[in-house]
Amino acid sequence: RPGHAAAWSSLCPSPSIVLGMECDAPRPASEALLERRQQNFARPQKNYYAAPPQIERGWREHMFDITGRSYLDMVNNVTIVGHGHPRLARAVSRQWSLLNTNSRFHYAGVAEFSERLTALAPEGLDTVFLVNSGSEANDLALRLAWAYTGAKNMLCLLEGYHGWTVASDAVSTSVADNPRALETRPDWVHPIASPNTYRGEFRGADATAAYVETAHRALDKLEERNEQLAGIICESVYGNAGGIPLPSGYLEKVYAMVRARGGVCIADEVQVGYGRLGHHFWGFDQQNVVPDIITVAKGMGNGHPLGAVITRRDIAEAFEKEGYFFSSAGGSPVSCAVGMAVLDIMEDEALQENARTVGDYLKERLESLGEQFPLIGAVHGMGLYLGVEFVRDRETLAPATAETAAICRRLLDLGVIMQPTGDHLNVLKIKPPLCLTKDSADFFAEMLGKALAEGW
Ligand code: PLP
Repeated sequence: RPGHAAAWSSLCPSPSIVLGMECDAPRPASEALLERRQQNFARPQKNYYAAPPQIERGWREHMFDITGRSYLDMVNNVTIVGHGHPRLARAVSRQWSLLNTNSRFHYAGVAEFSERLTALAPEGLDTVFLVNSGSEANDLALRLAWAYTGAKNMLCLLEGYHGWTVASDAVSTSVADNPRALETRPDWVHPIASPNTYRGEFRGADATAAYVETAHRALDKLEERNEQLAGIICESVYGNAGGIPLPSGYLEKVYAMVRARGGVCIADEVQVGYGRLGHHFWGFDQQNVVPDIITVAKGMGNGHPLGAVITRRDIAEAFEKEGYFFSSAGGSPVSCAVGMAVLDIMEDEALQENARTVGDYLKERLESLGEQFPLIGAVHGMGLYLGVEFVRDRETLAPATAETAAICRRLLDLGVIMQPTGDHLNVLKIKPPLCLTKDSADFFAEMLGKALAEGW
């Protein structure tokens, strides 16, 4: 509803969100909590801060620790409509008090939400499977491709990340997420050169052709060995490399080659899709292609476990003939209510448009910091899917890993939650809630400028 976002902002429970307030008081290290976590909970794989603040609540693009100190959440690529959204809270609470149950039963939410999803997907992608995460969605997508083609071999791109479950992990090669990602690979996985336009194997105007050629060679090798192809899985904008779009025209050519050899094309939209790019709803729109299978999660549930596979009826039917799919909570009444409320909020508050205008504005501000500070090698991405890549030398592109970690630590002191990404952990991963305001974008750019001016 027009005006809803403004009304929501004015309801903020903490009048003490003071952007730019540097807190002199030492942050409580939350040691007791950290210790309990270490004892009773599996250690998180990534802990970017030695003493992370103990977060207690959130509001829009802000989070608050147990002392009430506010942080601008610039990295949360899950909470797309913002923290503590009252409309979402009401929708969930209403559905919980009405019904939540095993997804085996018959209720309206599944049909309604699946209809909404297929209306957002390209024509022909009319069949939805609901799951609980991006990893599950990608595992299922791979199984659909295997069932439909009768083959197992799958291409994926180096530097890509698709999840932690057995099959999605097998096609994940990003060492930023898993330092051991390249050590073992099942023989059906065929990683091809990462078409990273900034620091990949090939650079320059004709990079597309060179990268397409690497895909071509991988396909030829399979053919020489008389092995059939099941397809390709990739993102269309490299999320974990820091929002780097694939070279223009790359997917069009690679999808055509894959299809010519009987394979299907899986677009992993878990991180890039759902309006974050601002200029496009889906990442693959940026490459002018239509995939055969789309996987989506993260933002679609605003942090609630919700994911989906959207595909064609004939692909789903091939799988249904020989495979089995059932997820106890995938597409439960509460999950569907969350999914519908997120889409309602996105539409009513024009969040994709906000991602475009605020994202473009922020990118300009970051680029002008780049003119001032040579440590900034490039600003990647579009919309609210941005990356600032730090290098020690703009010619050699030597990654500034230690500097990036120091800048993230300093940003935390300045009230900004940030995290490094990329295979060298030298890129700031900028994926805030899509309701980010221009003031918050200014605050982030100012704090980053301050951290850079101070040195590390
Ligand atoms: N695909 C991409 C591109 C991701 O970024 C992620 C998570 O970071 C996943 C899949 C896995 O999603 P989840 O963590 O919900 O299992």
